[in-house]
Amino acid sequence: MTVDVHAHLHHHHEDFTDTFRTESRRAHPDGAEVDLTVHWEAYRAGAPADTVSIVFGGKARRAGIWVDDAKIAALAEQYPQSVVGFMSLDPTQPGWQEMLRHGHQELGLRGIKLMPMYAGFDPSDAAIDDLFAYAEANGLPIVAHTGTTFISQAPLEYARPVHFDEVAMRHPELRLVLAHLSHPYEGECIAMIRKHANVYADLSALYYRPFQLWHSLRLVQDYGVWHKVLFGSDYPFATVNDTIEGLRRLAALPGIPGLDPLDPAGIEGIIARDALTLLGLALDRS
Ligand SMILES: [Zn+2]
Repeated sequence: MTVDVHAHLHHHHEDFTDTFRTESRRAHPDGAEVDLTVHWEAYRAGAPADTVSIVFGGKARRAGIWVDDAKIAALAEQYPQSVVGFMSLDPTQPGWQEMLRHGHQELGLRGIKLMPMYAGFDPSDAAIDDLFAYAEANGLPIVAHTGTTFISQAPLEYARPVHFDEVAMRHPELRLVLAHLSHPYEGECIAMIRKHANVYADLSALYYRPFQLWHSLRLVQDYGVWHKVLFGSDYPFATVNDTIEGLRRLAALPGIPGLDPLDPAGIEGIIARDALTLLGLALDRS
């Protein structure tokens, strides 16, 4: 079984504002607008048949992203053996407490996606601590975007994983995934996953910057934290199969004089990791 802890579901024209789409064009050298509408069949066609996916939309009013959690709940209901649905919250917006309760208790969503930089909030702000307390008490893991972006109005300061240090100290049972190995703040990310038993990282959307990912994984190896890195695609930005192939290409690279190559067992361990069990989300397959 492959577990993809990071797959998006959204519809380009419904879920993004014009500003968001203009910014995404600016990030592409050819200026082409990338249609981010997700076609679930295309996702499945680019993944091993036994893939189970954590799927979310996204909410960040400041950046212009707002996906209705009911869409995620509908997909999870349609594919109960292959989709684990997460809600998204933007705690800068009124009503997030009710969305949290509704997403958990009525929609049956099993975790939370946060985008601190896109929404413009500091995760360690005591004013939103109830969010993390609820997640910890109810066994809802959190996947948080950390790392760079193309959105000019997204404060990079809140892209840094260190702002979750305070959260993890207050809520040691909370399962937290720092997305994208927090590139290019992977040093902070590794300090976090090494320090906190229930904090993990995913390596989604990184294989196509091979030098950066090789370097990040060499740090993972040096710090002995292979077991804290989870597999993720960040679909539609990358497919599961392309991500697996990209990782295996990195594993096949020779070391450089005086430095070992990446340990292929470390890479294969990430690809095979049962992240659902680690995050307390194992499916009932009886
Ligand atoms: Zn993502």
